[in-house]
Amino acid sequence: MLLTCTEVRKTFGDAVVLDGLDLTVDEHEVIALIGASGSGKSTLLRCVNLLTEIDDGTIMLDGEDITDPRVNPDVVRRKIGLVFQSYNLFPHMTVLDNITLAPTKVRQRPAAEAKAQAMEWLDRVGLADKAGSYPDRLSGGQQQRVAIVRALVNSPRLLLLDEVTSALDPELVGEVLTMIRDLKGDGMTMVLATHEMGFARQVADRVAFLDKGRVLEQGPPAQVLGDPVEARTRQFLARII
Ligand code: ADP
Ligand code: MG
Repeated sequence: MLLTCTEVRKTFGDAVVLDGLDLTVDEHEVIALIGASGSGKSTLLRCVNLLTEIDDGTIMLDGEDITDPRVNPDVVRRKIGLVFQSYNLFPHMTVLDNITLAPTKVRQRPAAEAKAQAMEWLDRVGLADKAGSYPDRLSGGQQQRVAIVRALVNSPRLLLLDEVTSALDPELVGEVLTMIRDLKGDGMTMVLATHEMGFARQVADRVAFLDKGRVLEQGPPAQVLGDPVEARTRQFLARII
């Protein structure tokens, strides 16, 4: 197992947001997290990336308990890429500088090497000609693909994608989904929170339905999305499709 979340609990004040959540992710597996707004999807991804501290439970990454207080969060975060709904590129930096910032400044990799790797990725996703551009010259879909490349150049073991197409105009969603599909083809392990049920069905190996801070139901996409066992899953799907 690459990732094992066991009885993860997270509260904000009186609100129990993750309520003893269990989730495992195998290497090369793609998991789609679905669930109503407020069900805890983003909080879970933030907890896995150690941006949010859990109250109870454990999160194991690659055999290591990353919720152990002795663990260095920066070391863990290098193994986990997290991309948000809003692409969060630095507006005053070029595409290339956005991508090479962490590898050169945080990981102290030689600039030429970081640049070569960034260009390789940009080329692969068809954005090599944008390397010297500032983010505001790019479409939302292009910016989001750059944000994903920025996560990929750290060679993460695990990529977490939080509603990465939700802020995009409909005609730009496809290019980002294609990129995610290609990453799956590469064997990238991914957990993606998404409202795109069609995409979840196509790309996910497993769909997990979050309800009130727990995984209420999970299984192959066709089963969870097409013939869910739980009444609450059915209600959720009836509302959004
Ligand atoms: P989802 O991504 O499934 O929509 P979230 O994880 O964003 O759900 O939110 C789950 C619940 O946790 C919501 O009720 C939200 O208001 C609450 N929440 C999330 N982050 C915080 C925070 N930093 N402080 C207080 N409440 C929060
Ligand atoms: Mg969310």
